[in-house]
Amino acid sequence: MRTDKKVIRLRKQQPLLTGSEIARKLNISRQHVSRILQHAGLNNKQPHYRKRVTTCLFCGKITFRQQKFCPNSDCREQYYYIDVTCSFCHYNFKILKSTVKKGYGRGSRYIYCSSTCYSKGKKQGT
Ligand SMILES: [Zn+2]
Ligand SMILES: [Zn+2]
Repeated sequence: MRTDKKVIRLRKQQPLLTGSEIARKLNISRQHVSRILQHAGLNNKQPHYRKRVTTCLFCGKITFRQQKFCPNSDCREQYYYIDVTCSFCHYNFKILKSTVKKGYGRGSRYIYCSSTCYSKGKKQGT
């Protein structure tokens, strides 16, 4: 009887908990939990909406429809691009992170804003 009450109270306080999570918390079997919940007319399964919640990869805010980034924001840009400075002319610009990684992979420690700066930089040995 006491366990029954605990299960029902947990389910009502934390509706996002699954049956197995409740079972783990109370140290009882999953079957036991589902029997209690069924008996009380409560849903044993976790609500569907939990799966739909996705958070922005950049800022961590909740987005809808499983979007990776906040709509109407520059989170996507901020996530994929970084601010860099041209090694030759010191011009500040944004570059794709993957491009930088590729450059590092090839052993290049310098970033250039253009092919002109690239060839000038190479000649100077910077
Ligand atoms: Zn965001
Ligand atoms: Zn440059």
